[in-house]
Amino acid sequence: MLIDARSLDRQSVLKARYCVIGSGMGGAAVAQKLAAAGQDVLIVEAGGLDLGFSEDASVSADHVGRSFNMPATRCIELGGTSNQWHGICAPLDEVDFEARPWVKGSGWPIAAS
Ligand SMILES: Cc1cc2nc3c(=O)[nH]c(=O)nc-3n(C[C@H](O)[C@H](O)[C@H](O)COP(=O)(O)OP(=O)(O)OC[C@H]3O[C@@H](n4cnc5c(N)ncnc54)[C@H](O)[C@@H]3O)c2cc1C
Repeated sequence: MLIDARSLDRQSVLKARYCVIGSGMGGAAVAQKLAAAGQDVLIVEAGGLDLGFSEDASVSADHVGRSFNMPATRCIELGGTSNQWHGICAPLDEVDFEARPWVKGSGWPIAAS
């Protein structure tokens, strides 16, 4: 069920066992798994149904490390940045988890398997 929170009283309280912030791929995947396991899940999404990335969006971000020009590369809307996808849905390869000297910060503490 979708609720536009702007239509709620300021005193309204929404209750759920789990609250996921953001409906992008990360949040949506977590929420879907929880819901599939029979859990009560509430997703709180800052954006609406339409694309809304702009400098004056109601949410902002601090950069740590390399800047990715957040307003241009992040969508504040239902579904998040998946709305900008080129349509590539590929699993990670083993090499993506390995430390590679030519890739700064590479190497995960887990393997693909
Ligand atoms: C042009 C472009 C093309 C891409 N193409 C592909 C592709 O083909 N294949 C692929 O796998 N990946 C692609 N990506 C990368 C992919 O889109 C991202 O890696 C992925 O969407 C990130 O998911 P996320 O959940 O971490 O963040 P996001 O998708 O950015 O989701 C974050 C969500 O949280 C919401 N939010 C933020 N702050 C708050 C707050 N304070 N309160 C409530 N809600 C909040 C946002 O509105 C948003 O809905 C592409 C990215 C870009 C920019």
